[in-house]
Amino acid sequence: NYEVLMGILTQKIYESIRNVVGEDSFIPLHTPFFGKTEEKYVVDCIRSNFVSSVGEYVDKFEKAIREYTKTKYTILTVNGTSALHICLLLTDVKKDDEVLVPSMTFVATPNAVRYIGAVPHFVDVSKESLGIDPFKLDEYLSKIAEVQENQCYNKKTHRQIKAIIPMHTFGHPVDMDELTSVAERYKLTIIEDAAEALGSLYKNKHVGNFSKMAILSFNGNKIITTGGGGAVLTNNEDLAKKVKHLTTTAKKPHPWEYVHDMVGYNYRMPALNASLGLAQIEKLDGFVEKKRILAERYKESLKDVEEIEFFVEPGYARSNYWLNAIILNKEYIDARDEILDVTNKNGIMTRPVWKLMHKLEMFKDCPRMDLSVSEILEKRIINIPSSAHLIKD
Ligand SMILES: *Cc1c(COP(=O)(O)O)cnc(C)c1O
Repeated sequence: NYEVLMGILTQKIYESIRNVVGEDSFIPLHTPFFGKTEEKYVVDCIRSNFVSSVGEYVDKFEKAIREYTKTKYTILTVNGTSALHICLLLTDVKKDDEVLVPSMTFVATPNAVRYIGAVPHFVDVSKESLGIDPFKLDEYLSKIAEVQENQCYNKKTHRQIKAIIPMHTFGHPVDMDELTSVAERYKLTIIEDAAEALGSLYKNKHVGNFSKMAILSFNGNKIITTGGGGAVLTNNEDLAKKVKHLTTTAKKPHPWEYVHDMVGYNYRMPALNASLGLAQIEKLDGFVEKKRILAERYKESLKDVEEIEFFVEPGYARSNYWLNAIILNKEYIDARDEILDVTNKNGIMTRPVWKLMHKLEMFKDCPRMDLSVSEILEKRIINIPSSAHLIKD
């Protein structure tokens, strides 16, 4: 009978995860890992007295990110959400413009769109990347959008569609070549939400290099952390200067005078956080390597559980596997809650994917395309423990 079958499936999944993560009484979903260098740099930062938004640790961490991602400019911010806010402000997105965002994302993405009074327009994702499906998007835009004098309009709402924010879900890159070709045809500016994807490559190039501006997050649950923090990445010098200006209360450089030439933001990351970040980014290659091994072990351990698939990176990508995910076969979606219940009760922390954005109260009236892939994935995805340090040295 069905209930017995569900019980057996839940047990199989629980045991397959245990095989990989060991028998500790509690295995969190994702925790940071700190060593001696973190303590050393943070203490050094305190002793230097430069703990705030100027100081050598800000410059050093920015440089380390530039070198790692091979982007020309990096500006650190207080978090990833503020980085998104700044990118949108500099993309000429205005009140009542539309911005295309996946419905399957963390709430920060559409929130930043609302901060400037613009309207999130929700789009569907692909099963292959869990990020925006460029082919489905193309077909949708061919029906609802029209380009006039280099500007894209929504024929139904008569609003302008200005930008698109692909999000690299759980660290797996969106198909950026295909997305770029759609964005070019419809005159949309791309902003990459790479909050989850530091360390991930699309066709051998680090994410963040496929758009005018991209953002990272260093929140406590991300692959590396500064406690809280974020960054804007860009290859455009003029934009980089504007990001720095806008995040630094729009203060004009001057030896002693306080001149601010617009209403700016206090969004710069303090050096204290950057010192932690510098120590963390020195470990990033090791974290990525361990996470890829962890994913490989899960794949192996779960391969005989026929009722699910373990999500693997798309063929064009080398992913950081920030969060591992299992995807229940469609016939087994009813088992999701029991699997979540049993694993969490027995010390294996698991989580469903975020509730889809168009179902949240504040976004329920926003325009959207057919979201059937997101809708079914929402019922099928379970994230499982993914800390890099589950793999021992
Ligand atoms: C973490 C995250 C952000 C930014 O979050 P902050 O907590 O503000 O740093 C943005 N988008 C996505 C998809 C995220 O996962």
